[in-house]
Amino acid sequence: MRGALGGPRVLLRRLREVMAEPVSAQDRLDKIVVLIAANMVAEVCSVYVLRVDGTLELYATEGLNRTAVHLTVMRIDEGLVGTVAREAEPVSLSNAQAHPAFSYRPETGEEIYHSFLGVPILRAGNTLGVLVVQNRAHRTYTEEEVEALQTTAMVLAEIIASGELTAMARPGAEPAARRPLHIKGLALSEGIGLGHVVLHEPRIEVTKVIADDVPGELTRLDEAIETLRSSIDAMLEDEGVARVGEHREILEAYRMFANDRGWTQRMREAVMTGLTAEGAVERVQSDTRARMLRMTDPYLRERMHDIDDLANRLLRQLTGRAGGPEKSQIPDNAIIVARNMSPAALLDYDRARVRGVILEEGAATSHLTIVARALNVAAVGHVENIVGLVDPGDAVIVDGISGEVHVRPPADVEAAYAEKVRFRARRLERYAALRDVPSVTKDGVPIELHLNAGLLVDLPHIAETGAVGIGLFRTELQFMIASAFPRTNEQLKLYRSVLDAAGDRPVVFRTLDIGGDKVLPYMRAIEEENPALGWRAIRLGLDRPGLLRSQIRALLRAATGRELRLIFPMVSAVEEFDRARHIVERELTHLRRHGHDLPERVLVGVMLEVPALLFQLEELFSKVDFASVGSNDLVQFLFAADRGNPRVADRFDSLSPASLRALKLVADVAARHGKPVTLCGEIASHPLEALALAAIGYRKLSVSPASFGPVKAMLLELDLAAASALVAPLLANGASQGSVRSRLKAFAEAAGLPL
Ligand code: PEP
Ligand code: MG
Repeated sequence: MRGALGGPRVLLRRLREVMAEPVSAQDRLDKIVVLIAANMVAEVCSVYVLRVDGTLELYATEGLNRTAVHLTVMRIDEGLVGTVAREAEPVSLSNAQAHPAFSYRPETGEEIYHSFLGVPILRAGNTLGVLVVQNRAHRTYTEEEVEALQTTAMVLAEIIASGELTAMARPGAEPAARRPLHIKGLALSEGIGLGHVVLHEPRIEVTKVIADDVPGELTRLDEAIETLRSSIDAMLEDEGVARVGEHREILEAYRMFANDRGWTQRMREAVMTGLTAEGAVERVQSDTRARMLRMTDPYLRERMHDIDDLANRLLRQLTGRAGGPEKSQIPDNAIIVARNMSPAALLDYDRARVRGVILEEGAATSHLTIVARALNVAAVGHVENIVGLVDPGDAVIVDGISGEVHVRPPADVEAAYAEKVRFRARRLERYAALRDVPSVTKDGVPIELHLNAGLLVDLPHIAETGAVGIGLFRTELQFMIASAFPRTNEQLKLYRSVLDAAGDRPVVFRTLDIGGDKVLPYMRAIEEENPALGWRAIRLGLDRPGLLRSQIRALLRAATGRELRLIFPMVSAVEEFDRARHIVERELTHLRRHGHDLPERVLVGVMLEVPALLFQLEELFSKVDFASVGSNDLVQFLFAADRGNPRVADRFDSLSPASLRALKLVADVAARHGKPVTLCGEIASHPLEALALAAIGYRKLSVSPASFGPVKAMLLELDLAAASALVAPLLANGASQGSVRSRLKAFAEAAGLPL
C-alpha cells in the first residue's frame, strides 16, 4: 500500500462516506470502484457478483469497458476470477496472462492489463463475489495490498448481503447471497416445520467495521484477547468443568488458539489496515472459515468450530452483547438453527413457538434427537454450514420426514409445504377424535395401546392420546440429557411426577439402560470393541450395584401407596433376573426397616431383547410377573445387524418368518403361563407391523406418542381373525421363505386399512 493515495485507512473512511450517501445501489458500486482504483493506484477495479445460477457477473468496473457491466458473465470454473471465487483465496499475479487459468473477454478490453489481484468477497465463510484490481505494468502486489483489498471486500460483502443489488437483477440471475437453497440432511425427528430462522448462537452483527482511531482499536483488541485468555484459564481451573472430560478438551483447544500468535497477529494486522477491532475479528474469522470449509479432514473441521466459538466470544467481549436469543421472545414460528445444541438448551425455548430445528451436526441416536421427538418438533441434522448460510428471520422449511431443508423457499415450494402441514393437521384432528374410542378390532378383540415415554415432556401425551398406560418408561433419558448424574432426589421427583400424571394408569419403569449407544456425557466412557454387546444395562447394574440400588430406592419411594411396575433391560439369563429381583427385595426390606411407607404392590418383569432368553422362556415366565419385548434389540441381535447402521438396515425384515416366529414363540409361552406380555419396540409403532403383531397373538403394544393415532386407526378397522388366518400358514414350518410383508400389505390394502 505504500505509495497509494492515503493508504487503506483513508480508503475505508471514504468508503464509509459513500455507504452513507442516499444513492442507488449501482451508483454506490460505481463510486466504490473508482475510489478503490485510485487508492490502490490501479488502472482497473471491478466487482463480480456470484449469481444464483452459479455464474459470476460483472457488476461494476473502473478501467474496463463500461459497456461490459452486467453483460460479462463467467462460469465459476472459468478464468482467474472463477479461481478466486472457487478457492475463496486471493490470487495475486504480476503476469496474469501467463497463468493457465487466464481467459480473456474481448468486450471488457482487459488484454492490455498484465498484473492481477483478486480477492474473494466473503461473508461467514461463503463466497458472495470477487473484487479485482488490475494494472497495465507487470506489478507485484505487496502483502499489505492484498490485505487491504481483503479488508475492502468486507464492505462489498455488506452491500451484497443486504440484498440491495437483488432489485436490479433479472429473475434467475439474482446475487447468490440471498438465493433459495435446497439442502439434503439427515431426518432426525419427524414432522414439518415452516417458519423463520432463529440462530441459537446468533452471529454478532458488526455494524461498525471502519475504525476512527486505529491505535485505540488495537488497544481494544489486545484487551479483549487478554480478557478472553484469562476467562478460558479460569474455566479450566474451575473444578466443576475440569471434571467433565469432553469440555476440558474443547477448552484446551480454545486456550491453544487464544495463545496462537498467528491468529492474534492476523487480527492485529487487519486493524492496522483500518478496521475496527470487531471488523478485524470478523474478517479473520471469515477467511479462516472459508479455508476450513474446503477441508475434508474431520479433525480440522472440528477445529473450525473451536475457532468460530472463540471468535464469537471475542466479539461478545468487544460489543458487550450477551450470547443467545432471549428464549421467551423468539418469533411464533421459530426454526432454531445451530451447529449443535444440548437437549437442555432446546427445552429452554418456549415449546409453543418452536416449529423445527436444523443442525450442522446431530445424530439419529443423539440426546437432542430424543428430546426433539418427545417434543414433536421436526428436526434435521447434518446440514452442512447451515449456520453460515442463513440470516436471522430468513424463511425456512424443515422437513423432518425426508431430511430436506428449504432456505428462503420459492413461493410454490412454500405453498406445497403449507398444504402438507394442513393435511397433517387434519389427520391429527381425526386421530384426536378417536381418543375415547376403545381400542378394539373390528371383530371385537381388545388390543391395549400404551405409550413409550422417558421425559417430563412426554407426560401430556397420556391424556392427549387416551393411552391405557405407559408401557415403557426409559429412565435413562433423564440421565442422558443431564449434565451430571441426577441425584436420587431428582430421580424421585421425576418418577413421582410420572406416576401423578398417569393417575390410575399403569406405568412400567425400566431401570437404567446405559452403555451401548446410550452414553452419559459425564461418565467416563469405557473403550469397548463392540459396545452394543458390551458392558451395558443390567450387566453394569449388577456389577456396580450402587447405582441400580439407589435408582430402585428412588422408584420404590416414589410409588408409596401405589403400584410399582419395574423391568430390567438386556437380561440374557434367568439368573440375572433373579439377582436383580433380589436387589428390589433388599431395598424393600431396607425401606421397611427404616419406617418408610411402601408401594401397595411391586410387579417385577423383564425386557426380552437378547435371543438367548428365547431358549429359557419356560423358566423365565415361571418367575417374572410380566415381560416386555424390546424388538429393537431383539431383532438386531437375531440378525446380527446393527440397529443404528443404515448400511445393514435393509438386509433383514422384521416381518420375515424368522423374526415373526421368534416373537410368536414369546407370545405363546406367555399366554400359556398366564403372564402379560407387551411389545414395546419400534415395530409396534408402524401400523403394518402392529397388524402382524396382533395377528401372532400380541394384545398389548407400547408405541411412540406420534404413532398412537395411526396404529389405533388401523386396529379399529382390522378383522383380526382374517389376519391371523393369513399369517399362521405363512409361519408354519416349511412355508415359503420370503417376508410376510408383501402378503400383509396386500391384505391391508384389500381391506382398506389405513396404514
Ligand atoms: C428395544 O430394544 O426394543 C427397546 C424398547 O429398548 P431401547 O430401544 O430403549 O433399546
Ligand atoms: Mg433395548
